[in-house]
Amino acid sequence: MGNIVLKKVNKSFGATQVIPGIDLSIDDGEFVVFVGPSGCGKSTLLRLIAGLEDTTSGTIEIDGRDVTDAAPAKRGLAMVFQSYALYPHMSVKKNIAFPLKMAKMPEDMIEKKVQEAARVLNLSGYLDRRPGQLSGGQRQRVAIGRAIVREPSAFLFDEPLSNLDAALRGTMRLEISELHQQLKTTMIYVTHDQVEAMTMADKIVVLNRGNIEQVGTPLELYRSPRNLFVAGFIGSPR
Ligand code: ADP
Ligand code: MG
Repeated sequence: MGNIVLKKVNKSFGATQVIPGIDLSIDDGEFVVFVGPSGCGKSTLLRLIAGLEDTTSGTIEIDGRDVTDAAPAKRGLAMVFQSYALYPHMSVKKNIAFPLKMAKMPEDMIEKKVQEAARVLNLSGYLDRRPGQLSGGQRQRVAIGRAIVREPSAFLFDEPLSNLDAALRGTMRLEISELHQQLKTTMIYVTHDQVEAMTMADKIVVLNRGNIEQVGTPLELYRSPRNLFVAGFIGSPR
């Protein structure tokens, strides 16, 4: 599962309309990238889906269920933040296990899930370390591990690589793509970086001032940009 449907989703902060009304359908298992310039509403749209912001109007459905008014924890999604938000005093193992402990899962099951996540993320040798003893890329993987153990129906990433240097960003990009191939879970990935969008996405959603300019595969957007904004943002030769 991991089918997400937005119907006429509108978001205003006070008198400022940030998302004027968006219709969007995301299929189960898709890797969808929201791309657009800074301030265009990418994070707001992701936070609306996650339930971290309330919609002003419109509805959000996940796997056929209307979650418009559901609390974030009730949506079955996992958000991976830009800042790693790891607990510095806890081991990698405890950081990954944390959401399962909170859910009062039995210890032996927690152990099994943490080991499995660590294996998928190549963190098996690092479970006893603290976040401060890890590289930036490893810390990012711990943050993803903490999301994986909850077996969400979709992962939401908000510019997860922007804290990393260029070389590491390239590596992590590949790792997240590989993870998607392994897990086959819906992923929504927010970035202002066209290269990330073009290399990672099954489907790109180009945002401009809260509006969707175009939705399509990287090739469709590259070959047939609908307007100058999309052409300039995606189609320009690099
Ligand atoms: P992006 O992630 O694409 O850079 P954001 O979604 O963060 O864009 O922001 C979109 C617009 O909404 C910006 O103009 C921003 O200033 C505004 N905005 C975001 N959050 C709030 C808020 N909590 N209160 C008021 N305005 C906000
Ligand atoms: Mg943002």
